[in-house]
Amino acid sequence: MEKNDNLEFDAAHIWHPYTSVAHPLLLHEVVSAEGVRLTLRDGREIIDGMSSWWSTIHGYNHPRLNRAAKEQLDKMSHVMFGGLTHEPAVKLAHRLVDITDDSLEYVFIADSGSVSVEVAIKMAIQHWFAQGKPEKSRLLSLRNGYHGDTFGAMSVCDPVNGMHSMFAQVLPKHLFAPAPACQRDEDWDDSHIAEFRDLISQHHHELAAVILEPLVQGAGGMRMYCSEYLRRVRALCDEFGVLLIFDEIATGFGRTGSLFAYEQAGIVPDILCVGKALTGGYMTLAATMCNRKVADGIAADGNGVLMHGPTFMGNPLACSVAAESIDLLLESDWQHNVSRIEKQLEAELKPYESEPIVDQVRVKGAIGVVDLNRPLDDCMDWLPAFIVEQGVWIRPFRTMIYIMPPYIISDADLSTLTAAIGNMLAEIQHRQHQND
Ligand SMILES: *Cc1c(COP(=O)(O)O)cnc(C)c1O
Repeated sequence: MEKNDNLEFDAAHIWHPYTSVAHPLLLHEVVSAEGVRLTLRDGREIIDGMSSWWSTIHGYNHPRLNRAAKEQLDKMSHVMFGGLTHEPAVKLAHRLVDITDDSLEYVFIADSGSVSVEVAIKMAIQHWFAQGKPEKSRLLSLRNGYHGDTFGAMSVCDPVNGMHSMFAQVLPKHLFAPAPACQRDEDWDDSHIAEFRDLISQHHHELAAVILEPLVQGAGGMRMYCSEYLRRVRALCDEFGVLLIFDEIATGFGRTGSLFAYEQAGIVPDILCVGKALTGGYMTLAATMCNRKVADGIAADGNGVLMHGPTFMGNPLACSVAAESIDLLLESDWQHNVSRIEKQLEAELKPYESEPIVDQVRVKGAIGVVDLNRPLDDCMDWLPAFIVEQGVWIRPFRTMIYIMPPYIISDADLSTLTAAIGNMLAEIQHRQHQND
């Protein structure tokens, strides 16, 4: 085990995501990273299967992203966005407008994914407020959804596996339709949208918007579903006069096989949130885009200004890297890479479905999920160390072992990841037998 002062101080003083300071987690100190590899303090190199939570699509320490950051640093790292503008923000917004549907014309640059969701919710509520319909202020979301950790975002996360119970007194009460159950368009049946239809038809007069993650629900359960569901949702939103927000913070920038997941459904949302891979994993940045209907709607009462403006809005360093990351993506053979990864995940993870503890293997684009028939909570005292000993970085949660590697990963490194998952399954089963 690594032993150093940083780890000691960390354990005594620092919160990590979703952790307790009373029971600090096992931590590894990363000293550098290159391509798909993280280098630990003790010299070990591990292959990153997580893309640092969906973000590092081009790999670490990329010369072009480094150059974009350094060149911008020498000009100015930040300047306020109120009353001022700068080329990095214009370049980034230009690219976002270019690569999304023509209807998505307006860009709000936000600090993080959660903030972009807050802004999307504000856009939708303000849109109706300015039309003289303040009662249209609730959201319709999906079970198993995840939209971030700030209050507005939390309020539309899954009410059970999200954080509602702890904050029930202060969270607005939104509506939830069942998680989409249809995985392939061929299996579509109208019953798959029935409860959603009931909710929107009964509540449309008080609904500002529907919010969902298209095609893949991420942190709320790594569930994948068919594009027909999205077409039905779009049609129902139009029929009942409700705006549609797509949260593509996890799915955007190629992860599911198209640049944005909505493209696979052939429909477009009114409001789109992007984040995570936006800067290629370099720093925090997100954006909320919307169409003219939403933007004009907000301005409809004459003085309707969008009520949001973070201190570090449009940070030039982050915008420069994001614009470069988008160029890099478009110049690369990302479609080939994502479909190559998808095929390999299918070939190497699907066989694990025959393991007794595996419930289902799910693959979509460069995302592979091995869902077990039991929670992994009781393995967390040994499994994280076991994973790093396999030379990989994977973080299982709840019942799932999943990977979404950088698009540049080689076939051999990807095989190391999938083999490590096999070893994890074997070890979990081995220990289970010992305890029986
Ligand atoms: C990660 C994520 C968020 C939150 O983004 P942060 O940058 O962590 O605030 C919101 N929605 C989805 C779908 C995400 O995956």
